[in-house]
Amino acid sequence: MTFKYFEKPLIYAAMTDGPCTCSICREKEQCFDARTFIPSGALEAVCGTCLAAGRLKEYKISTCTGDSEELKRQLNAHQALKAEQADSLCNEKTAGLESTTPAIKRFKPWLWPSADADYCKFLGYGSVPLYKRLALTTGERLFKDTIYYNQVENSDSDYLWDAEMPLTEINSIEDLYGYDVQFYVFKSINSGKIVSIWDSL
Ligand SMILES: [Zn+2]
Repeated sequence: MTFKYFEKPLIYAAMTDGPCTCSICREKEQCFDARTFIPSGALEAVCGTCLAAGRLKEYKISTCTGDSEELKRQLNAHQALKAEQADSLCNEKTAGLESTTPAIKRFKPWLWPSADADYCKFLGYGSVPLYKRLALTTGERLFKDTIYYNQVENSDSDYLWDAEMPLTEINSIEDLYGYDVQFYVFKSINSGKIVSIWDSL
């Protein structure tokens, strides 16, 4: 099961416990838990095939909300497109993201980041070991250099790294219980550069 904007859905997406009837195609299999989709409560469970095929569009349901304003700005800046072409490409990419991407298990909603004229791919929850693994220099430098543009001003990056970044790998949302701050790590699908988002309860 592969998704353009989500690397490891079986680990980081909300799944049903065991096989379940897909609310769309009625096949019984391991499904994505659709109760957090937007609007919530419209569907119970959606299989990977239906999600990947974009069938949520038929129900006007989305799994997340993309930072479309920023994507539009990037499309205009990077690709020398006419305004209407940028708008239409932005709408196409946003619909693709929001209707065919598994939902990240998270405590609160925030906008899905974009970089280099497309939405980013979600890699996993941030931790010291993950940043170290991804870093060319140091994990700390990588984290501090990759905070998403809309959080830079309000981020005390020294404090976040020293006091809040988990010291062990975070492999499930349950591993985040007890932490006041959660970190989400993405990658630009065009350049490979890392993008970090943090959130607090
Ligand atoms: Zn299905």
